[in-house]
Amino acid sequence: MAATDKPQKASASHSKHDRATWFQGSSWACPDVPQSNGSPWRLVLLGAPGVGKGTQAYLLNQRLKACHLSTGDLFRAASKAKECDQTPAMKAAMEYMRRGELVPDATVWEMVRERSACIRCAGGFVLDGFPRTLGQAELLKRLMASEGIPLTAVVNYELPLAEIVARLSGRRTCEKCKTVYHATERPPKVAGCCDRCDGKLFQREDDRPESIKVRLEAYERSTAPLIDFYRKSGLLMQVAAKGTPEDIFQRTVVELEPQRIGRFAQKLWDAAENRRE
Ligand code: ADP
Ligand code: ZN
Repeated sequence: MAATDKPQKASASHSKHDRATWFQGSSWACPDVPQSNGSPWRLVLLGAPGVGKGTQAYLLNQRLKACHLSTGDLFRAASKAKECDQTPAMKAAMEYMRRGELVPDATVWEMVRERSACIRCAGGFVLDGFPRTLGQAELLKRLMASEGIPLTAVVNYELPLAEIVARLSGRRTCEKCKTVYHATERPPKVAGCCDRCDGKLFQREDDRPESIKVRLEAYERSTAPLIDFYRKSGLLMQVAAKGTPEDIFQRTVVELEPQRIGRFAQKLWDAAENRRE
């Protein structure tokens, strides 16, 4: 994919792919809640920072119409809020984030719980960046069980460490439209300038070398155990995160295909059952 075609990451403002409720909390209604098609996709994306979960979540959202729910984007949006609008817990969360550490489960859960409408949404979801600890995974499991909502699958993106570090340290983002570039792999036409909107490109604070190290350690310690957690529940799918975003997306779709067929068969079965009744 050329840099100009890069998907925009979620931004604080509402757009077709980032529903208002996720960014603004439960007091906001989404303008275009999709109609239930009977079997919405409910996916969790796992993988170390830098494997490209956000890009895949965007592409999956386009294909499956399930909403992209990123906790990282939520915290970044919150960090732009006026200081007087930030709660003490949120201010502390921003500090953790800047250092590359995980935000405490209680703060993350408060934000996600406030947005449980997005988890219940008939359109389904692609969760990106949550859950990130076993504690968070248990909380999500309990919430979904209490609502009688099943997870469809958990996709784990795998990439060698050296490649992860190269991706993160070269990542540059447009300040205005959030398009993502890479200093050497996908450079913009004019250095430091967005191809799409002329906005200035910046390096995320947590993409600096000191923070990258902390993030990768936090991933190994807290998030990698989730792979086993979801393997045991039979939901895990492994996808190699090498190559272009399209390559990775195609691999993801292939992995999800048996799920799609299973869900289609279930629908036919349910319809036949209904006719018999
Ligand atoms: P990454 O590129 O590391 O996957 P994200 O955009 O998902 O980054 O998240 C950025 C930062 O936001 C994390 O390093 C962490 O500080 C915080 N964060 C996001 N989601 C969570 C979560 N579920 N639990 C704890 N901290 C989180
Ligand atoms: Zn731009």
